[in-house]
Amino acid sequence: MAVRRWMVLLAALAALGGATTVAVAWGLALWRAVPMYPRTHVGTFLVDGRPWNFAQARGAGFIDSWWMDLRVDFPGGDPAELVGRARAAQAKVRGTSDGRIALDAPPAWGLLQGVPGTLTTAIGSDTAFGWPWPCMWHQVHGAVIFNRLSAGELRFGWLVDGSPEVRGRDYRAIPLRPIWPALVANSAIFAAVWAVLLVTPGAVRRAVRRSRNRCAACGYDRRGLIAATPCPECGFRQGTSTMRDPRPLMGVR
Ligand SMILES: [Zn+2]
Repeated sequence: MAVRRWMVLLAALAALGGATTVAVAWGLALWRAVPMYPRTHVGTFLVDGRPWNFAQARGAGFIDSWWMDLRVDFPGGDPAELVGRARAAQAKVRGTSDGRIALDAPPAWGLLQGVPGTLTTAIGSDTAFGWPWPCMWHQVHGAVIFNRLSAGELRFGWLVDGSPEVRGRDYRAIPLRPIWPALVANSAIFAAVWAVLLVTPGAVRRAVRRSRNRCAACGYDRRGLIAATPCPECGFRQGTSTMRDPRPLMGVR
């Protein structure tokens, strides 16, 4: 019984933590369009045989990853050679006043973890929202046709406002793809916050009542009663397991 009750409590806290995590991520996504700049992290990676240039802007509550097939700028270039050249250029600015951080590997989420080889996509972005860690993301695909950038196509998100563009951000969308490690970590943190908010007031109230020789459950004055006597008001037995506490979970008044 006790074990089952704890499991119900933990499941309720986990659900609250998860719901709060998603609500916070969606709230951040709706709050404002994502700034593309300043881009603090850069990199160039050969993925799926294609030379991808990559840049990230990171801020409180969001990460915006922008990527482009280098052959948009260097048509017909050899992918490996283009990547090598770009990485050599990045190595030169690494640690300089430029301030950008050159990444050695693409992030663990987003387009560069699975480029669909058949796409005409050459340019686009992955944008994640959440706090403390960005945990839900969506993607915008663009295509370059005859040197012109087409309008973006939103994936893994619900467009709420504006139109998705690969360059220039004036749109808002609800992100639907999870970044699982971040989602789990955020949920654990919010579950702990809920536990403190919901469980602590009840526990403190019971302790105060006991210290004043009142019934821990209802506050009835127990002066003159021996410890084994159940509370005349509510029947609560002092000194028995709190699992016998007749009140519902989580310190409801
Ligand atoms: Zn009582």
